[in-house]
Amino acid sequence: MPNLDSQASKPHGGVAGTTGPALRAAEVAGGDGNVTSEQDGGGPVLGNARVSLVFWGSAWSNAATSPTAQQFAAAITDIVAGPWGTQLNQYHGIGPSTVDQVVTYTSSDPPAGFVENDIKTFVDDRINDGTVIAASPAVQRTYAVVLPTGHSSADTSFVGRHQNYFRQNNTAVYYAWVTNDGTLTGGNSIPKVFSHELAESLSDPEVSTGPLTITLNNDGDEIGDVCNNTFMTVNGHAEEAYWSEADQRCVIPRWQPLPAVAGNPALIQSRFGTKGNFEMLTPEAAAGLFHAWRNNDNPFMPWSGPVPFGQGLGQVSGVTMIESNYGSPGNLEVVCNAGGQLQFFWRDSGPAFIWNGPYLLQSTVW
Ligand SMILES: [Zn+2]
Repeated sequence: MPNLDSQASKPHGGVAGTTGPALRAAEVAGGDGNVTSEQDGGGPVLGNARVSLVFWGSAWSNAATSPTAQQFAAAITDIVAGPWGTQLNQYHGIGPSTVDQVVTYTSSDPPAGFVENDIKTFVDDRINDGTVIAASPAVQRTYAVVLPTGHSSADTSFVGRHQNYFRQNNTAVYYAWVTNDGTLTGGNSIPKVFSHELAESLSDPEVSTGPLTITLNNDGDEIGDVCNNTFMTVNGHAEEAYWSEADQRCVIPRWQPLPAVAGNPALIQSRFGTKGNFEMLTPEAAAGLFHAWRNNDNPFMPWSGPVPFGQGLGQVSGVTMIESNYGSPGNLEVVCNAGGQLQFFWRDSGPAFIWNGPYLLQSTVW
């Protein structure tokens, strides 16, 4: 029985390929996507999506295939499980996704030139024959169909696309397809195109109903489109940027190591945010202190920092911190041991968030 394809005629959801070089990290940080404003159709987002990753085609069982399905699955899992999605939280509270199913399906091959309906039919057939976990209203799920090299879209110019349809029981099915340039890091590589489609599948699963961006030239792009081809290599695979309205630029969140530390750190839960952020202070091995904090309102629980201060004190051997009732929600107050002397610092509650000090701690006599 044919399925209703309510989205086949919609203009968005696809990603054009690239022949250009990858942008450097510095360019990633500054990309503004030519975005002038945002609109939000108020459609659903996928707040905690499960990803079924489906490698389609006999090539995936060929020992000569490189990179292997396992390598791509590891790269995609790293994107999904890592910090990349952190800034998606601003879009109606999107939280972390998980890859909870990896399937290699070799009983058929995709057409060398496939059309949208080939992918949709494949997804629906795999749901029907139990190869993939069925979509259900209770669990947000998106299917990513990954193609071998030598296969391309015959009805679009895209290298990847996300779409949705509704099954007979009106259950929404979200899926994407991703073509393969035979690399882990290239401009049309599976990890690069997957990250584009994932950002858009999560924020705009029912295509063109969610948060969209407005540009000078092209209204209503999804959040991946305005950052298309802004990508970099992270952990050995490509990751693409997406538009962060909060940051007003294209972002690729990734881990950054903190400086080496010496001595004991101090940790408190502050009144910043709704839940209350974690505030961490630690002596730095080189000199002084640094502050880092975790945003506990974002389910990715990202740490930010380091903010170094007090470097003129040399090495600090001990530190303690409280949040006081000075300021709102409260200043951070710090005492540390530097060279056998107690030093005091405080930080305002914003908007400046400036560390003040050191002040040598002395008692008052009169
Ligand atoms: Zn797109």
